[in-house]
Amino acid sequence: MFNKILIANRGEIALRVLRACKELGIRTVAVHSTADADAMHVRLADESVCIGPPKASESYLNIPQLVAACEITGAEAVHPGYGFLSENARFAEIVEAHGVKFIGPSAEHIRIMGDKIEAKRTAQRLGIPVVPGSDGAVETVEAAAEFAETIGYPVLIKASAGGGGRGMKVAKSPDDLAEAYATARGEAKAAFGDDAVYMEKLLLTPRHIEVQVLGDGKGGAVHLGERDCSLQRRHQKVWEEANSPALNAESREKIGAICAKAVADLGYAGAGTIEFLYENGEFYFIEMNTRLQVEHPITEAITGIDLVVEQIRVAAGAGLSVKQSDIEFKGHAIECRINAENAATFTPSPGQITYYHPPGGLGVRVDSGVYQGYRIPPYYDSLIGKLIVHGRNRVECLMRLRRCLDEFVVDGIETTIPLFRKLIDNQDIANGMYDIHWLEKFLETRPFD
Ligand code: ADP
Repeated sequence: MFNKILIANRGEIALRVLRACKELGIRTVAVHSTADADAMHVRLADESVCIGPPKASESYLNIPQLVAACEITGAEAVHPGYGFLSENARFAEIVEAHGVKFIGPSAEHIRIMGDKIEAKRTAQRLGIPVVPGSDGAVETVEAAAEFAETIGYPVLIKASAGGGGRGMKVAKSPDDLAEAYATARGEAKAAFGDDAVYMEKLLLTPRHIEVQVLGDGKGGAVHLGERDCSLQRRHQKVWEEANSPALNAESREKIGAICAKAVADLGYAGAGTIEFLYENGEFYFIEMNTRLQVEHPITEAITGIDLVVEQIRVAAGAGLSVKQSDIEFKGHAIECRINAENAATFTPSPGQITYYHPPGGLGVRVDSGVYQGYRIPPYYDSLIGKLIVHGRNRVECLMRLRRCLDEFVVDGIETTIPLFRKLIDNQDIANGMYDIHWLEKFLETRPFD
């Protein structure tokens, strides 16, 4: 096992990783920008290194500074968390070239899954169901029109280098196609410096369901069931559940087994998430994230397995601590992402937290780096914490979540907690009846007016 791990991240996820390290008896190194000198992950780490000014490009994304921090502290491995450099194949290669283990999959696997066309091809080769679409890039508008006729309208044109929904355009009919194609290429070029685009059938009312996998890097892998992350705003997940209200044990086992086998065949190492759209009982691969996800705690809640510990074990060559037959799904879990934003307008609300009282009790977990008196810097993502609630079934989980939302007090800044108080009272949410468009439609009803 490693003696010392450097955590190349900040906020709640840095703290989350630090906790796993402590429980494994591993010393921790925090890194921070000058804006984060007072952060909880810095306070609780065994050592800390300031790696630059507030701007992420000069600190948390600054590879030479991170490598230097490893060298100065003698860290043997780096955990990248999520976001920042967690899916940067070059970072994985560079740290390993300096004799430091990257806690995650190989640079090659990161690279394959980072390229959407390559990822989809690989998924298909591994037996994962994909959205009907073009075989690779569509080079001309004529080819796009021809292809759209074969799969039928509406179609989606997507950037190969895509991310965050950019470079993605819908063509409802042949009349829209030329414009959608040109706009998608233009946006892709501007956002990613690469104008390659491909095409897919547009699914109209899918759910977003993702499968958590763990690979040992030696041909062994398990799945830990799925998460339903359909409640999204602008492609950002807001509320996640495990298991999905839409699946039964049989469909869960079926898609889980396909994913575990694919990951095993790939020789994948560590945690990964295979994301699908799910419509009319069918799964359609959209992408694989080669890192820990924000919403991983709901999977931990229903399986009792610490995903960060498993990531570290695999990176250290100790293998997974569980086999598929050990994994059981107990009860139901929901995560609410608490952002420092106005709940009605989503305007960021950085500033000082003057009073802080998180909920507690049986089945309640709050992953957050904030505390009373903490000043949220304006430079980073607005996620300030995650409320994760577990119950023996979905009804108990919802009742507990309602109680927790009533208890949660964060004063001095605005948060998205009031939005969850609205959601918990909604009948569709109570029934688990929602797709990826539900939340945006709900917000159009102006629930705060
Ligand atoms: P990005 O990497 O840009 O986020 P994704 O491929 O993950 O792109 O797609 C982002 C979102 O767009 C998905 O979560 C889903 O909501 C929607 N989407 C993607 N592909 C399709 C499709 N074929 N049909 C309908 N919606 C889609």
